[in-house]
Amino acid sequence: MASNTLIDLPPEIASRRHQMFPVLTEPEIARISRFGTVQHYPRGTRLFAAGEPGPGMFVVLKGAIAVSQRDGLGHVVPVVRHEPGGFSAEVGQLSGGYSLVDGHAEEDVDALLVPPAQLRALIIAEADLGERIVRALILRRVGLIASGASGPVLIGRPQSPQLLRLQNFLSRNGRPHQAIDPVQDSAAAALLEQYGAATGDVLAVCPDGSAVLNPSENALARCLGMLDSAEHNELFDVAVVGAGPAGLATAVYAASEGLHVVVLDCRSYGGQAGASARIENYLGFPTGISGQALAGRAFVQAQKFGAEIMIPAQAAALDCSKAGPSGELSLKLTDERRLRSKTVVIASGARYRRPAVERLSEFEGRGVSYWASAFEAKTCADAEVALVGGGNSAGQAAVFMAQYAIKVFMLIRGPSLAASMSRYLIDRINATPNIELRPYTELKELHGNREEGLSAVSWRNTRTGVEEKRPIRHVFLFVGADPETRWLEGCGVALDSHGFVLTGQATASLAAGHVPAPLESSVPGVFAVGDVRSGSVKRVGGAIGEGAAAVALIHQYLAAAPQSRQAAGTTPGLPDPSPLPDEHDRPGAKSHPSAQRLNPSS
Ligand SMILES: Cc1cc2nc3c(=O)[nH]c(=O)nc-3n(C[C@H](O)[C@H](O)[C@H](O)COP(=O)(O)OP(=O)(O)OC[C@H]3O[C@@H](n4cnc5c(N)ncnc54)[C@H](O)[C@@H]3O)c2cc1C
Repeated sequence: MASNTLIDLPPEIASRRHQMFPVLTEPEIARISRFGTVQHYPRGTRLFAAGEPGPGMFVVLKGAIAVSQRDGLGHVVPVVRHEPGGFSAEVGQLSGGYSLVDGHAEEDVDALLVPPAQLRALIIAEADLGERIVRALILRRVGLIASGASGPVLIGRPQSPQLLRLQNFLSRNGRPHQAIDPVQDSAAAALLEQYGAATGDVLAVCPDGSAVLNPSENALARCLGMLDSAEHNELFDVAVVGAGPAGLATAVYAASEGLHVVVLDCRSYGGQAGASARIENYLGFPTGISGQALAGRAFVQAQKFGAEIMIPAQAAALDCSKAGPSGELSLKLTDERRLRSKTVVIASGARYRRPAVERLSEFEGRGVSYWASAFEAKTCADAEVALVGGGNSAGQAAVFMAQYAIKVFMLIRGPSLAASMSRYLIDRINATPNIELRPYTELKELHGNREEGLSAVSWRNTRTGVEEKRPIRHVFLFVGADPETRWLEGCGVALDSHGFVLTGQATASLAAGHVPAPLESSVPGVFAVGDVRSGSVKRVGGAIGEGAAAVALIHQYLAAAPQSRQAAGTTPGLPDPSPLPDEHDRPGAKSHPSAQRLNPSS
């Protein structure tokens, strides 16, 4: 047997063990040998270590590699043993990410070492083998998440809002972790005390042994090696802001066609879709798919094609002063770093609207959520929850939460759902006995404190004036979203009266002499896709379609710049993209009106 699993896996994953640890035959190893170099490692050599950049994939030719998990508390758990034909690596190695586990040569080892860039090239060049390897890498990450056998240890009470916030961040980013309740584990309790933690505090112990009390998401990301702090001085072909469906689609199509792509997201991949428990109207998934699963696949796909992904990383401003086919655009990040790119794709989507209720910010992440994923559902098991909103996303969330909660109170401002929700969802809500619709109702007050989080909720019937208070600890807000375009202020990208980015014909009069392509903004080379774009359909399918379409327009744009063709097509193992015909005559760089809002109907 080429790989022996040593940790307990949940049955649904254990049954796919043969896919998780496939055995490569000698002819298969011979086929992929051109992507790596054969190395010899004496017994005991450390090949990779949790919390350090991973070297890539090791295919064992002779000897055995032992893989184990080591947490910051000093616990070591054997994970798997790879023998000849077996290979190490999990999905993070596609992008050269930090290793989640330790690996050492248990005997004298000869192995083919395939570095991350070559691993991506292998997967693309050797389609059938590549498919088996990618499936194995994904399943291994799934296994690590399910077994809790890797990543940081979070010490905190299960209902602690701090703990829920950090767990949510890690699970949205597909990061394995384990949580330890200090009440059940005296060593963990002693460690908390050593750090002077109060009730409700959380200590994050990272794989390298460092510990942070109540870390911010960025601090946690830094200690896991997720946060990229390297300078990027190269000139990208495409910089994509936002890794929701639109941004990921742009990345997949652009990188697969040989463009040099960077994608950044300030929180996690998947955007709003990542918060959807079940997307039922996305083509090809007749039984529906969770937004997280869909986005997770796209995230891996983008990395497979060589897109550089920076998460968490936030765009603070866009400098368009040198925009134009022969110029460049410059993105400033909140950490002051800059990214230079020939084109920028605005895929920053929308941010959730916040109703005017006192103390709302105090309870965000501490009982108040703007999405309802499987993670939130677990925390609401057998409890009453309140859900505010009457749109389709509210309807989906209500039906989903009703499977876990004892009761879902659905608060809507109007008389019924008819005007705001699809018929199939209304029927489903009517058929779900533990969803109680409260028409003409608004959220009035949130009760609780910072340490314990939300403890009760009051609402009011706007017709009768009657108020009701219930001991509800979970409130879900689905009251719409506004475009995330604040970071564009000052660069001249024209917006409509609601702040959405105008593109194509709608912005022609503001485009200072250039003829914008259909998804291009008033600034040459700056494109907008998905929910952030004025007139977009606000659907996953629409966002993905626009992401793909934008790439064809980017090719046309780059083709207009004399020097650009040489820079494109740099991804190893990928063919040079064939030039697309020019549709638009593009003048050189122009000055642009500063950010302006336009009523699209005007
Ligand atoms: C709960 C819920 C359920 C839904 N269900 C469905 C459904 O069933 N079917 C359907 O078709 N649609 C559904 N939708 C709508 C769908 O999710 C959106 O239309 C889609 O996600 C839009 O994709 P996008 O990439 O344009 O934007 P978003 O998904 O909003 O992604 C934008 C990304 O940009 C990032 N970002 C923002 N600003 C910055 C910045 N300055 N720097 C870096 N990153 C930034 C954000 O963190 C985010 O990840 C649902 C939405 C929600 C909230």
